[in-house]
Amino acid sequence: EHVCLIVGASHAGVGCAFELRRQGWTGGIVLIDRDPQLPYHRPPLSKTYLTSEEGSYHNPLRAVDNYEREGIELRLGVSVASIDRDRSLIVLDNGEELAYDKLVLATGARPLIPPFPGLESARHVFSLRTAADVAGIRAALSEDHGKRVVVIGGGYIGLETAASLRKLGAEVTVLEREERVLARVTTPGMSAFFEQLHADHGVKILTGKTVSGFQTNATHTIVRCADGDELVADVIVIGVGIRVNVELAQRAGLEVSNGICVNGSARTSDENIYAIGDCTYHHNPRYDRFVRLESVQNAVDQGKVAAAALVGKVAIYDAIPWFWSDQYDVKLQIVGLSEGHDRAVVRKEVGEAPKFSIWYFAGDTLLAVDAVNNAKAYVIGTKFIQSGALIDRDKLADPTVPLRPANL
Ligand code: FAD
Repeated sequence: EHVCLIVGASHAGVGCAFELRRQGWTGGIVLIDRDPQLPYHRPPLSKTYLTSEEGSYHNPLRAVDNYEREGIELRLGVSVASIDRDRSLIVLDNGEELAYDKLVLATGARPLIPPFPGLESARHVFSLRTAADVAGIRAALSEDHGKRVVVIGGGYIGLETAASLRKLGAEVTVLEREERVLARVTTPGMSAFFEQLHADHGVKILTGKTVSGFQTNATHTIVRCADGDELVADVIVIGVGIRVNVELAQRAGLEVSNGICVNGSARTSDENIYAIGDCTYHHNPRYDRFVRLESVQNAVDQGKVAAAALVGKVAIYDAIPWFWSDQYDVKLQIVGLSEGHDRAVVRKEVGEAPKFSIWYFAGDTLLAVDAVNNAKAYVIGTKFIQSGALIDRDKLADPTVPLRPANL
């Protein structure tokens, strides 16, 4: 019987396992993850999970009996220490060896924690990637002090965390090193929108702030900034980016650059080893560019492509990337990759609540759409990116022209 081992049981790995069965893989499938919990949805960690009644939240990717029914074996709470390609096996941290015919690396990423001076002795410092991180933050917040939170990093995770903790009544300050939040992922206009949104909800955002270290006493920690500013924190959340989990692949001699290198079928430089999700560096044919993406869409879709390829079908990954973020009552949806645009058209819908979209073009080609509280713009934008049909930009910008493909 052929065995497919999948390292990493999250969005990519779990999706791939079930798809593998659906595509007709009859051999064994084993999913391995160091996280002891039944695999769960990650995006709600910084959104609904952080604010939900403690203990009441349960959001598994699949119910436990689904794994049994599909004959997918779960090995949780155990790490993969190395890959022995010559012998086609992996070695677990308990010394156990598992042989494979096919191996899938879905190892994702881990939070980047800069070596801030004073970090080791600081109290209540967290990152936010796992269910255990959320449990830790909740527990720290429920202590006597525990109401002053400093979030380091104004990316999506930092801002979502700030919004959620604000909802819980915490006093929240976000420290961002760049001159604006979301600098790495969006345009100045969108950054300004989110900065205002957080200000309206009482979150203090300080930009241009480089954290230089921590100093901790009996009750709290002082977060020091390079410009001399100091903030008192009962709880600190670090959200300054990720490190891709490429080490297993690297030590096994697989090709790695800005992630594990894979071809259009999610195959690595070893024909029996595939890689999917956050950990991969792959070519996107539509944008003709190599990318490393951090999104559920990418994890799931690339997992499906790998599953098809593993059963011998021809499958090429060419999905249009998409992503979302929820902060307060604002739902941001992003489709496409806006990098390289030479023009952005803003369309603001009539009405009181913020509802707008930004359409990014390179020449006449629509690259991407950022839609704020505007699912229609997101759906129509996706269609236009898919079809490559031309858009009348004057009509697009005119809110009196209803947003319909036929009108554009
Ligand atoms: P991961 O989810 O990182 O999973 C990798 C798994 O591999 C982990 O469970 C890890 O324990 C395991 N692993 C790694 N190495 C080993 C080893 N050696 N041995 C055993 N196990 C190992 N994306 C969106 O599209 N929209 C959102 O709104 C959104 N919000 C997010 C909010 C938060 C707080 C976070 C953390 C992420 C969010 N994301 C969001 C990103 C999304 O969750 C990731 O893109 C997605 O989880 C990637 O899935 P993955 O399976 O590739 O990797």
